[in-house]
This record gives sequence, C-alpha cells and structure tokens, in this order.
Amino acid sequence: MTGTVYLVGAGPGAPDLLTLRAARLLGEAEVVFHDALVSAEILALAVHALKIPVGKRSGKHSTAQRFINKRLADAARRHRIVVRLKGGDPMLFGRAHEEISYLTRQGIEVQAVPGVTAALAASADLGVSLTQRGVARSVVFATPREAVGARASNWAAAVAAADTAVLYMAAGEARSVLDALVAAGLSPGKPVAIVENASVGYALAAGTLAELPALAARGAGGPAVVMIGDVYAALQTAASRDLIPWLASQSA
Ligand code: SAH
Repeated sequence: MTGTVYLVGAGPGAPDLLTLRAARLLGEAEVVFHDALVSAEILALAVHALKIPVGKRSGKHSTAQRFINKRLADAARRHRIVVRLKGGDPMLFGRAHEEISYLTRQGIEVQAVPGVTAALAASADLGVSLTQRGVARSVVFATPREAVGARASNWAAAVAAADTAVLYMAAGEARSVLDALVAAGLSPGKPVAIVENASVGYALAAGTLAELPALAARGAGGPAVVMIGDVYAALQTAASRDLIPWLASQSA
C-alpha cells in the first residue's frame, strides 16, 4: 500500500482561516510534516499524527529540500495519509513544485489543498482591495528572493508593469528592493504598505517607495508582505492614520 501526500495550505496564521478540507485531513493524518511558521493551534488538529518540523526560516536552520522529498516518499510508503503542511497556500512560494515532481516520479499520489495566501490575508486586514475599478486591474505576486544558482528573474519589471503588487520575502531586503524597483521605472513616490503578521494581530507601516527601508526597519521580525500600488495611497493620509490606531502607533 502506498499512501497519498497532501500538500495542505495552513493559511496565514489565524486557525479559523484553515479550510474545512485542511482541518479534516489534519484530523485523519498519520504523519504531518510542517513548516516552522505553522501555529500550535493548527497542529493540535492533527490528533493522531506524528508531527515532524521541517521548517525553513530565513537565517535559521533549514532542512534540505531533497531530504524533505525523501522523507515524504518514505512516509507515504508506510502511511495512508501524509500531510505536508505549508504556510499560506502551498502553490505560492512554497516549493510545492519540487515535492510534486519528486513524489510523482516515485509513483506516489500527491494532492494539493489550497490555503489563504498572505497577500489576501493582508488585504483583508487593511480593508483595501487589491483591485479597484478604474485604479487597479492587474495584480502581481512576486519575490526578490533568488535561489542559489537560479536563473535571473524579471520580478522588478513585472512589479513595475502591474497596477498592484505584493512582494513576499522582501521586507528584509528593503534597500535592494527599492533600488531594483526604481531602476525598473517605478516612481519613488509610489504608495507602499508593509503588513506584518497578517491575520494574527497584524501591524502596518505605510508610506512611499522611497521610504521602504525606513518602514521595513520598524518591523518586529514577523513574516511580512510589501504591498505596492496606488490603491494604498489612502493609507498615507492623516485621516486614515487617525482611523486606524495601529497605523498611528506604527508611524513615528
Ligand atoms: N505559501 C505562503 C508564502 C511562503 S513564503 C503563502 O501563500 O502565504 C514566506 C513569506 O510569506 C514571508 O516571507 C512573508 O512575505 C509571507 N507571509 C507568510 N505569512 C505571513 C503573514 N501572516 N503576514 C504577512 N506575510 C506573511
């Protein structure tokens, strides 16, 4: 018997943003391999499972992807339901492709279960739509992060071409992100917002692209997305600073 590996989206952090399908599979799972960012409350749903952390957090110890692939395959040869739990949605910046292609080549069935990605949770927290009639009709999800040896990405050109952009894994390299985006043609006055810990008591810093390094420096070190576009212009006004208490407390 070979089991199935489910690549399950854990969502952005708030346990009640988990899908019902994800909750059911966690309850049925015999083994759960999970990222470092997945909360204890969500892991507690995996009542029968052996829970194995395989998280990658930048700057901390990470388990090599090849080793994770092999452990998933080994587990599927021994168990019926194996869950690989990933933050947000598994199909976005989650290395799902590596796991799917490896497991498929091994003849192991893989299924993905969607989750709420950070960009969507952050938008909900802000109450600012990624798209707006007459203002924003295209959205790009991008990351400046490059794997060692990967071919060059045109992420900055893609961001410059979009009406709204959400950058993952970018707040820690704000200075080089700013330089790359200005070189790609974005105005230094473009509105930006940084949302940290979306869905779990989030914090916001808002300003212009030129201020990005200063805004990022206010962060407390939690996961954060950098949001760029005219839809965020309203967050900079004095009126909305008053309306949104945490914005007032975030802005020095
Ligand atoms: N698959 C995940 C993304 C993994 S990459 C998803 O769909 O959300 C990890 C990056 O996601 C972080 O560096 C950060 O940019 C973003 N992120 C994850 N959780 C977040 C949260 N709660 N708030 C803000 N950003 C978050």
